[in-house]
Amino acid sequence: MYNQKRVNDLLKQMSFVRFGGTKEEFKAAKLIQSKLKEIKIPSVLESFSVQTSTIKTAKLEVLAPKKITIPCTAYLCCANTTQKGLEADFYYFEQAHDVNLKEAKGKICLVNGYVGRKVYKEFIKAGAVGLISFNGNIDFPDEYDLDQREMRKGLAQLGNMPAVNILVKDALKLIDNDTKRVRITTLQQPSTAQSHNVVCEIKGFEGNDTIALTAHYDSVHFSKGAYDNATGSVCLLALVEHFSKHQPRHNLKFIWCGSEERGLLGSVAYVEKHKKILEQIKLCINVDMIGSILGKRIAESTADMSLVNYIDYLGKEIGFPINSSQGVYSSDSTPFADVGIPAVSFARITPHGGGDIHHRYDVLEHLSERFLKEDIEFILEFTSRMANAYVIPVPRVIPQNMIDEIDKYYCREKDAKKIKLL
Ligand SMILES: [Zn+2]
Repeated sequence: MYNQKRVNDLLKQMSFVRFGGTKEEFKAAKLIQSKLKEIKIPSVLESFSVQTSTIKTAKLEVLAPKKITIPCTAYLCCANTTQKGLEADFYYFEQAHDVNLKEAKGKICLVNGYVGRKVYKEFIKAGAVGLISFNGNIDFPDEYDLDQREMRKGLAQLGNMPAVNILVKDALKLIDNDTKRVRITTLQQPSTAQSHNVVCEIKGFEGNDTIALTAHYDSVHFSKGAYDNATGSVCLLALVEHFSKHQPRHNLKFIWCGSEERGLLGSVAYVEKHKKILEQIKLCINVDMIGSILGKRIAESTADMSLVNYIDYLGKEIGFPINSSQGVYSSDSTPFADVGIPAVSFARITPHGGGDIHHRYDVLEHLSERFLKEDIEFILEFTSRMANAYVIPVPRVIPQNMIDEIDKYYCREKDAKKIKLL
C-alpha cells in the first residue's frame, strides 16, 4: 500500500521547529517534495506572503510600587512605542465584563489567556492602550518557554497597540505585588516573508470531480510539532503513494499547508488562489494530529449529517473506534468549508496531560508507530471509498447550523439591523 519506512523517515526528519514564513518551514516543504520525488510524483510550491518583523526592543518595567523589569517578548507586528516607551497605569483585565471595560480606559492591561478577536475587540473599544498577555502553567513554571505571540492582521485591523507576552509566574507576581504603574517598550521593523503550500495531484480516471486532502506542516515557536502536525503530513504522503499505485476514479489534490498555526493562512491562500476550480472540489479531507500513544479518534465534519453518520457506521463496520460528530475543527478544513466545500478533519486527540501541543514536549517519543499506522489505514479506507465512489455521496452543501458555527469561529457579527427588525 505504502512504504512504512518512508513515512517513519519523514516523521523523524521533520522533527524541528517550522514556524510559518521562516527558512525552517521552507526546509520542511523541500523535505516533503523530496519524498514525493522518491515516488516519482511531481509537486509544486505555491508561495504566499505572511507578515513578519524584526523585533529590536521588547521591555516591560514595573514603575510602582517597586521598580522591577519583567522578561517579555513583543507581539510580532504590534504597534511601536516611542524610544522612551509607553507609560500608563496598570490594570488587570480579567474578562470583557462591563466593570472591567469601564476601568480599562487609558491603561496597560494584563489579560487572561489567549487574546482572541472577540475579547480584543471589546478591549479596543474600552480604550486600553497596551496589552500584556501570559502563557505557561504555575504548577510547572520551568516546563514552559516564553511564547512569541503575534498581532494577527485580524486583530490589528481593529486597532493596533503595543503588546507583550510574559510567563504566568510573572503575571502572578504583577497581581500579587499590587502593581500600579508600568512601562512597555516595543520597537520593531515590520516586513513580509514567504510561506508555501506544497501541492501535488493524482488524476482520476474519470477526472471530473476532485477531493482535496490537506494537512499543515508548520509548527509554532519552541515546538518540533511531531504530533501537531508532522503526523498529518506523513499521512498525506502515505495516501499519495497508495493512490499513485491504484488510480482512483476522481482527482485527488494533496495540499500540505504552510502557516496554519498563524491563522490557517495556507489554506486561506489556497482557496483564494484557486477560485476557478473550487466548484469541482466536492470534499476536503484534513488530517491534523494523529498517532499519539494516548488518545481517542475523532472525525469532525463541517458537512451534512449524512457524512457524520457514514463515518460513524464505517468505524463500527470495520472495528475502528472513532467518534464522529458535526462541528468546526480549527484547522485547514475550515477555509474550505467557508467557501461551501464539505470538509472533515481526522484526529487522535490526547487526553489532558497525555501529550501537549504547541509546546517543547510535542516530540516523537509521545507517538506510537502502531496507532499512526492504524490511523493512516482508516483515513486511507475512507478516502478510497470517496475517491472511487460512483458518485461522491456527500451532499455539496454546508448546512445552516454549520454556516452559523463557521461565522462564530471567525467572530463574524450578525447583522444587527436584521435582528432588530425581527
Ligand atoms: Zn495542528
